[in-house]
Amino acid sequence: MSVSKGVVIYGQSRITYRVREVDRKTLAIEVHPDQRVEVRAPLHCDGEEIRRRVRKRAAWIQRQQDFFRSFEPRSPVRHYVSGETHAYLGRRYRLKWQLADREGVKLDGGFLRVSMPGNASTEQARRLLRSWYRERAIEVFSKELEVCWNSFETMGVPKPELHIRWMNRRWGSLSPRGRLTLNTELVQAPRECIAYVITHELCHLRHPHHGPGFWKQLDRVMPDWAARKRKLEEKMAM
Ligand SMILES: [Zn+2]
Repeated sequence: MSVSKGVVIYGQSRITYRVREVDRKTLAIEVHPDQRVEVRAPLHCDGEEIRRRVRKRAAWIQRQQDFFRSFEPRSPVRHYVSGETHAYLGRRYRLKWQLADREGVKLDGGFLRVSMPGNASTEQARRLLRSWYRERAIEVFSKELEVCWNSFETMGVPKPELHIRWMNRRWGSLSPRGRLTLNTELVQAPRECIAYVITHELCHLRHPHHGPGFWKQLDRVMPDWAARKRKLEEKMAM
């Protein structure tokens, strides 16, 4: 087996792909969730032929990459200082440091108040905010999963176990063993967008891949999913 690389230019962008020669008759192009493009080609397949095939599928490859990219959190770098805005359930709040006897985070009108005793620091603010987001995420995601699950209950599969953690590249994932993992950061998005991510993942219970059956089920249980997805992209890019 040999491995090589190639690039094609498509419109304004370039598509980099990796070729793996394998013992098979036909050529297959795959786009992975991390947007990597992999070509599995028959042994001794001509490089020009591979390039031609990648170019021919370029529009499709980009659609796949855009799709996976839409799940990537794109929040700007945070400094956790007073005045900075932080989102929660689709609304923006202004961060406010305050000295207090006890540590705590509280929503108060348009403010997100972080109470810190003694030597307030960005590190302390960051730690408090992250654990506050985590607490909120556990509560909000559990509740949304409860509601979304109504559409899947009759499928006869057990309800996935919910896990929450900070992730860099994805909003959510579903393991083959039915474990639903959601990105803590998703709690910054509006509830309807959180429900969209959960519903998308629940559709994977029956359809592991994004094939026609997957989209059919998603359309059925959440007819307005595309609008929610767009809203998620817009809100989280701010
Ligand atoms: Zn998916």
